[in-house]
Amino acid sequence: MFHVKHLSQKDDSMTSSPEISPSLGAHWESLPDDAQEIERVRASFISAYGYEPEGVWSAPGRLNLLGEYIDFLGGTCLPMPLPYRTYIAGSARTDGVLRAASAQMPADTRTVMISDIVPGQLKGWFTYVAGVAWAMNQEGGRDIALPEHFGADLYINSRVPVGGGLSSSAALEASTALALLDLSCPQRENCVEIDRAAQDRSAANDALRARLAQVCINAENTIAGAQTGGLDQSAALRSLPGQALAIDFRDFSIEPLHVAPEQDGLAWLVIDTNTPHELIDGGFAARRAASESASHALGYSFLRRALPEDLSFADVPEREAKAQRANRVDSCTNAAMLALEDAEGTPPDFPRGWVRHAFHDMMLVPRAIYVLKALETTAEPQERQKLYKELGHLLTESFVSMRDELRVSRVEIDETVRLCLEHGALGARIVGGGFGGAVMALMPQELLESTADAIAHLYASCGWAPPRFLPMRAGYAADIAYKRD
Ligand code: ADP
Ligand code: MG
Repeated sequence: MFHVKHLSQKDDSMTSSPEISPSLGAHWESLPDDAQEIERVRASFISAYGYEPEGVWSAPGRLNLLGEYIDFLGGTCLPMPLPYRTYIAGSARTDGVLRAASAQMPADTRTVMISDIVPGQLKGWFTYVAGVAWAMNQEGGRDIALPEHFGADLYINSRVPVGGGLSSSAALEASTALALLDLSCPQRENCVEIDRAAQDRSAANDALRARLAQVCINAENTIAGAQTGGLDQSAALRSLPGQALAIDFRDFSIEPLHVAPEQDGLAWLVIDTNTPHELIDGGFAARRAASESASHALGYSFLRRALPEDLSFADVPEREAKAQRANRVDSCTNAAMLALEDAEGTPPDFPRGWVRHAFHDMMLVPRAIYVLKALETTAEPQERQKLYKELGHLLTESFVSMRDELRVSRVEIDETVRLCLEHGALGARIVGGGFGGAVMALMPQELLESTADAIAHLYASCGWAPPRFLPMRAGYAADIAYKRD
């Protein structure tokens, strides 16, 4: 009945932490099984629409190792694809109608004529799906713009926590973009195909993925109304399997980096704190606008240009590098605040910490890249330990800046980070835009379960909604899951 043309990449050698047995108290999610998830979304499509879908497409959430609120400033960020993905079953239509339903939004099937989609009209979750169709048509390239009478039926099911800082929105956009691109092929004269998310991706394939990332950014900014900067969409579409991606947002160039803490007995603890955020309620946009106004006051297109090209402090010891970063952050923040005051005639009406955080995180990431590259070439165990310790410190430094300068933390997040550190994490931080969401920690593998138990216990004793713990395994970029013959 169904012939699997492209089974999505799954390689057990990429497992980055051992299978985790459930322990008393902490709720551990199960790692998704692609084949089961594909079958589930296919069956849901059939019960929603009454016929077989043509195929299934999927895209991952991401764990951003470092660099928050800096993609839109031309900073560099370090996302890794998660094993948790959004799956979309779909079929093409020829009447220009887009229908979508989501397992996460039950009893809310939406319908629109693609040609009727305009900014500001649609509301809610469907804006992320319809926005992609709209943005594909804005993009201009005939290979991406949808054929005139093209339409689609889509059914969505996601294993990425929704609103949890792990980028369910970009996973939804990226899987929609791939589904619409593939489904529209038979209605086009020439169709472009996305290769599977292989390790040896061609430059042409990455270039197409980069264009689709721009489509998804436009969809999220213009139709969904969330002013995110491009980190999430680039990670969902352009990541390489099992690698972190250093993305330089001055030009969206990428550099894959090998990150394998399990080789040294370490693992990522990823915690959905069950305190969903709302990025479109203004808190994110106000901080973005503040740091962008600092760029303009200083006369730069990107705030990143106010900093030197090389921020790695290569061969400078950790403590000294930290001191030099702090000096640079201070002097740049002073200059930006003065330039803003000069430009507006009054001191800026936002906290200085918002600008400080931007300089701070823009300086942390290049140092983390330097540390990760040093790990690739250092064999000596003590030296490796030292490098991992510094990586952990960089994570926690970023958290402290998000809590105290950017002020996007909340008590559940603060307490989760505190417990991780008390239980032996090398570093811990918020992932994503904050105001709730997820926490990640770099920990000795053998401490994962006891730390999770302690966190679950604390949440229960405070009467907070229970957190969820997400086992990690290497993920891969947006891909076609399978297509019916
Ligand atoms: P995050 O991307 O960190 O998960 P966002 O606030 O950016 O959080 O995006 C969450 C929003 O994206 C949801 O409120 C919903 O509108 C939409 N969304 C994400 N995943 C799904 C899904 N599986 N089904 C329907 N809507 C979704
Ligand atoms: Mg998002």
